[in-house]
Amino acid sequence: MTSLKYTDEIAQETAALYEKLQPQFSHERWEDLAPYIVEINRLKKEKNAVILAHNYMTSDVFYGVGDIVGDSLGLARMAAQSDADMIIQAGVHFMAETSKILCPEKKVIMPDMEAGCSLAEGITAEELRAFKAKHPGAPVVTYVNTTADVKAESDVCCTSSNAYKIIEGLANEGHKRIIMAPDQYLAKNVAIEAKKNGLDVEIIIWEGSCIVHERFTPQDVKDLRAEHGNVVVLAHPECPPEVMAEADYTGSTAQMDDFIKTNQPKKAILMTECSMSDNIAVANPDVEMVGTCQMCPFMKRITLPKILKALQSEGPEVIVDPAIAERARHPIERMLKMS
Ligand code: SF4
Repeated sequence: MTSLKYTDEIAQETAALYEKLQPQFSHERWEDLAPYIVEINRLKKEKNAVILAHNYMTSDVFYGVGDIVGDSLGLARMAAQSDADMIIQAGVHFMAETSKILCPEKKVIMPDMEAGCSLAEGITAEELRAFKAKHPGAPVVTYVNTTADVKAESDVCCTSSNAYKIIEGLANEGHKRIIMAPDQYLAKNVAIEAKKNGLDVEIIIWEGSCIVHERFTPQDVKDLRAEHGNVVVLAHPECPPEVMAEADYTGSTAQMDDFIKTNQPKKAILMTECSMSDNIAVANPDVEMVGTCQMCPFMKRITLPKILKALQSEGPEVIVDPAIAERARHPIERMLKMS
């Protein structure tokens, strides 16, 4: 590993970024981070690599070294359009697999192979096959937060922003019973919307969950409103329906980001992962982000030193069996067509 020192040149090169992120990082901390940012940005150019940084990355990664930032599917789609030879996935493992599925010719590197996801680990391909056998004829809609093996067993994928649209599309094709996996809360939220809109469809739910979003409670929202007064509450659809019912706005990370940018509320609370609030606060200095958040231990495994090491060693590489990748690409492409 390169020995990295904070020099006058590095201070100068990162001064504008430090000013932007300054409320989050003490100067002492910045002296540790800045040399990594400079070295990663130098090396990625040299290697024609692109860093995909998910909205839940800490701001040093998100703003310091991220080339393409956003939600999981948006990242992989934009990466496919780039001419980079190598992708460094600053996110979790299923995202790296999705990148590999959509960009098979690129080398995809995961800075920490242990960066998993409770949803993706909540169902295996074998379990999904057994579940399908119990519900013959029902098409399978899987959230993008799944492994390539599980996607390969699916009919259509969905994201938190297009899940309802996909279900509506299948219902309009005449399907009366649809399997949704693995997030029980996303499925329950879609089922509630379907009922509200008079859609004649039964959602068969797999009982997985995100360990971050399932922790929020309706009482949290009530307490935060009592504490912060006139505040806009935004909740992610991986939250339980009772939390969604208390929120002013519900949407995916990209939709929450758009909402804040467009509406510029005075005060806002995001019922989602902590770094999302930090990153939105940086981009929207007139919006006061208040209240609680929950930390994703998987996302937090990705750090600047690990990204640098991944770039230097060009590993560990994420490999998806080409036959599985081919099968997994179909439900993703079908989702893109349907949404
Ligand atoms: S926040 Fe939830 S869904 Fe996202 S990676 Fe962490 S555990 Fe998975």
